[in-house]
Amino acid sequence: MVEHKYDPTKWNEMKGPVVGGRDTYQSKSWNPTRKKWGAYTEKGPAPVWFAEANATNWTESMICKTKDLFYEAKLNECFKKGDEVAIKIHYGEYNRTAILRPEYIAAIVEEVRACGGNPYVVNDTTLSYHTYNSMAISQYQMEGAIRHGYTDATFGCPVLIADGYSGEDDYRVDIPEGNIIKETYIGRAIAEADAMIVLAHARGHSITMYGGILKQLGIGCQSKRGKYITHLAHWGDPHDAIGWPKFTDKCPGKACKFHKMCDDSCPRQAHKVTEHGKIWYPERCRLCYSCQVTCLFSGMTGIGFEENYFPNAMIAHADAALGALKCFDRGKVGFINCAIDVVPECDCFPWAGLAVAPDVGIFAGKDLLAVEEATLDAIDNAPVSPGSVAEEKGCKPGDDRFRMVNGFSPRITQAAGEKIGLGTRKYKLINYEPPMTPKHIAKWQIRKGGVANHKPTTVRLRDVFRKHDLTTEVMPFRRIDYEKEWAFNEWKKYDPFKGETPA
Ligand code: SF4
Ligand code: SF4
Repeated sequence: MVEHKYDPTKWNEMKGPVVGGRDTYQSKSWNPTRKKWGAYTEKGPAPVWFAEANATNWTESMICKTKDLFYEAKLNECFKKGDEVAIKIHYGEYNRTAILRPEYIAAIVEEVRACGGNPYVVNDTTLSYHTYNSMAISQYQMEGAIRHGYTDATFGCPVLIADGYSGEDDYRVDIPEGNIIKETYIGRAIAEADAMIVLAHARGHSITMYGGILKQLGIGCQSKRGKYITHLAHWGDPHDAIGWPKFTDKCPGKACKFHKMCDDSCPRQAHKVTEHGKIWYPERCRLCYSCQVTCLFSGMTGIGFEENYFPNAMIAHADAALGALKCFDRGKVGFINCAIDVVPECDCFPWAGLAVAPDVGIFAGKDLLAVEEATLDAIDNAPVSPGSVAEEKGCKPGDDRFRMVNGFSPRITQAAGEKIGLGTRKYKLINYEPPMTPKHIAKWQIRKGGVANHKPTTVRLRDVFRKHDLTTEVMPFRRIDYEKEWAFNEWKKYDPFKGETPA
């Protein structure tokens, strides 16, 4: 068995990108930190608007309720006429199905535009966190986005990668307030925006345990450099590098059926499978996770994570979220969490497990942590979906759902975020019920600015029918001779219940 070298404390001796790195990067460039940044809530519990995931009529459509919440929560006041408004979403991994349906995103784009903002949809590139991850390069990520229907044509506005082709286009943001990390890097298309609406898919995550709006800020807004830092090694103090891959002696080397895929997993060629084990070259490693995730999900146990890695990563991504928030003046970021398809893992995996809860609904507000806390509480209290990993692990309504499903409580992130001024976890939930009035029904059904679509469809059809009376033109159409008795009773022959009404 190979003697595994595990000595990450030689960081300062490393050559290559570290030489001259941090100290020269952005030395003369624009500092994206705004003077008036800060959490929206000044005191007391923050209001969070909630619309449940159900619909029985026009006004209750999830898309219509999302539009209603945008205004109820006053997210239209996050920007003024002419502002460039980034709409931050997750583009989803290729072959992923549990992602936000494009209609939600298009709905918000429409309302930002209707209020005079210039919307554009954004996401950053990621690290190469498994062998076949496509989101690490914008070209590959966009192929997946196009397949999901995330396109200019679908949304009616540009769809961008915020940090460039492979993550090189970013700004450094200092976060002296951070619990663990003191700086991060934000994709320029986000840092340059005047305002931002974060539209998140609330679901689990295998590192941060849960991912909603905070993760969209704390990981999603970070460029590739920012993500490396959040993952706690790149350009950091070696003693803080709690996330180094942990190579165990359980790797069977080339006897592992995944060894080729494993060898391919490192973008830095920092490890190599040998006949009987694995060699790691820490001086080349940049902590992208690819080798760990590849090994973990292949069901093997040759590589793992350092003890305490997960809770520290959770705290670090709260720090990084503050870095993203600092790029905007107070009140210029609005938050929407869609607790729909609440699956155990992140949208960046090319698969989706069964949802751990039935669809819960939409949450909106201007306080990041309050919206997150309300979403987490509602997911915790929702029924446990049969067949899901939550049921397998014995979860009951009221339990900390993602702690049981993924290992640690998302409240670790929440508490760390509250400590550094991301917002308040205290919230006042406002249940939104759309009014069932003719005016409200018409509001979201009649599209503004469409081609001849300003009228109710039926009114428009009057013009068409005046030219072609479609119903009378086909009269008399061929059918059996009309027999009242037959028409009323024949169907019962085909009904297993013979026309009995359910008790
Ligand atoms: S050895 Fe380091 S750089 Fe290579 S895949 Fe693993 S974590 Fe990434
Ligand atoms: S996938 Fe894991 S067990 Fe298999 S060769 Fe790689 S490190 Fe070893």
